[in-house]
Amino acid sequence: MSFVLHGIGVSGGIAIGRAQLISHATLEVAHYSITPEQVSGEIERLTQALHAVQKELETLHGAMTSGDAPAEFGAFLDVHWMILTDPTLHEVPKRTIAEQLCNAEWALTQQLGVLIEQFDMIEDPYLRERKADVVHVVERLLKVLMGKPGAVRPTAEEHTILVAHDLSPADVIQFKNHHFAAFLTDLGGVTSHTAIVARSLNVPAVVATHNARTLIRENEMLIVDGGRNVVIVNPDRSVLAEYRLRQDELELEWQKLRRLRTTPATTLDDHKVELMANIELPDDLEQSLENGATGVGLFRTEFLFLNRDGLPSEDEQFEAYRAVAAGMKGQPVTIRTFDLGADKHKEGLDGLTRVAPNPALGLRAIRFCLAEPRLFLTQLRAILRASRYGKVKILLPMLSSVGEIEQSLVLIAQAKESLREQKVRFDSGIEVGGMIEIPAAVLSIDAFTSRLDFLSIGTNDLIQYTLGVDRSDEAVSQLYDALHPAVIRLIDLAISAATKSATPIAVCGEMAGDVRFTRLLLGMGLTNFSMHPAHLLTIKQRVLTSDVAEAKAVVARMRRTDEPVKLTALLTKLNTH
Ligand code: PEP
Ligand code: MG
Repeated sequence: MSFVLHGIGVSGGIAIGRAQLISHATLEVAHYSITPEQVSGEIERLTQALHAVQKELETLHGAMTSGDAPAEFGAFLDVHWMILTDPTLHEVPKRTIAEQLCNAEWALTQQLGVLIEQFDMIEDPYLRERKADVVHVVERLLKVLMGKPGAVRPTAEEHTILVAHDLSPADVIQFKNHHFAAFLTDLGGVTSHTAIVARSLNVPAVVATHNARTLIRENEMLIVDGGRNVVIVNPDRSVLAEYRLRQDELELEWQKLRRLRTTPATTLDDHKVELMANIELPDDLEQSLENGATGVGLFRTEFLFLNRDGLPSEDEQFEAYRAVAAGMKGQPVTIRTFDLGADKHKEGLDGLTRVAPNPALGLRAIRFCLAEPRLFLTQLRAILRASRYGKVKILLPMLSSVGEIEQSLVLIAQAKESLREQKVRFDSGIEVGGMIEIPAAVLSIDAFTSRLDFLSIGTNDLIQYTLGVDRSDEAVSQLYDALHPAVIRLIDLAISAATKSATPIAVCGEMAGDVRFTRLLLGMGLTNFSMHPAHLLTIKQRVLTSDVAEAKAVVARMRRTDEPVKLTALLTKLNTH
């Protein structure tokens, strides 16, 4: 039966392919079929994972019993050992692989489902609680398996459409190395970090579909139209044909856009505009350069922390920053210090392990860095060391007060001093900027411009904190409004104040890559935009056909109204000539 699901398109384009259902974020595993010839290899992969986890437990046990760790830890490891060696986990999944011709991860998660159901029926509360131990053991196994993926991959990845209930940004970033056609989730807001990373996969994505994960079945044919916010399940032939045509048209439009790659972004009335890239990992540089970025306006370094054991060392971070700095060949590279917390968790870090009552308002970004100065200093040293290899700048996230700027500057000075003592070279004039993401920052902007070299407006958070709307909660996504008069006023205030004090200012939130807002921002006086690389050429095309003087005249009228309807009408006017 054919039906349509509506959601929020967070990445445009059209994809046609077959559904691959993926399970809950904590057990994010690929489900795919194997051939009878591949069964023994898949069983061997599971056997090796079992041995690896047994070894891990043995090592942990050794460390516990030789030190002064409490005896309960040893007992807890014994329980895990028993679970691991029990045939229900050892043998049953192997049989499933052979009988159902499925991959090891899939077999393991099926068995976990069975065990969880059995545990839920146990009356004894102590025994029932052992369910968590089973989950932990299976997660350990999955982690090993996923670290060593099998030779077998889904047959036609490029035509596979991932369907998940919810995914964390860390889950999504894992998909960067795979070629999926599109992406759907039940949950998610338009500027949630999950959506931002999904966008960076450069495939169509629709979030907030509510129940795609339950309604869609494995392998069903899907059309994902990210531009129109819809998913068509089991489309009939005529719809399919129409969409294939539309796909070809989009491809043609893209080919035309690509010709603008090296054209300078200059408006009709000759204002030069910088169009820079937002990146999450050094690998994103390639796409940024392909699409003509004139610098990196935002390197979200916290992604170096996710999906890994332990923390990245100073050297490892240095390598990542150096690669980007050198890759941009003298063009600016703005390295944002870790914005961990809220929806970007890193297990094992103090302060982030507890569940914060209100994560977006808790120990996030600069607050977390200042609470963990050792970790912050390590990053600052790595950035400073990389500054020799290009034009590197430091960007501090989520500032709300002058105190945070001053504390950060002290730590930067400390990091510089430690490098000088070790005779390590760096750019001593490195610029330090701050993100404007909280209304308090806009309202104290003069104190910011007098202490910082540049500013960058993070509209994603600025909207969230101005309107009190959680950016990752689809239940309130209709209230998340970039065109709210208060948001427009704050952005305008920040740009005007920075311009008056001759402090360079950029916008690096999603508004910068949204063509509906290009002329609005130009009219406010913005000349530096940083966005996901996939949007660079569309925005360049808009810049090339814009007249700043005309945009300024419309923006002047926008300043005189608080009426949402009038604001929308004026925005339409801006965009229609
Ligand atoms: C923003 O908040 O607009 C921003 C660019 O930072 P992030 O999306 O990483 O929070
Ligand atoms: Mg932000």
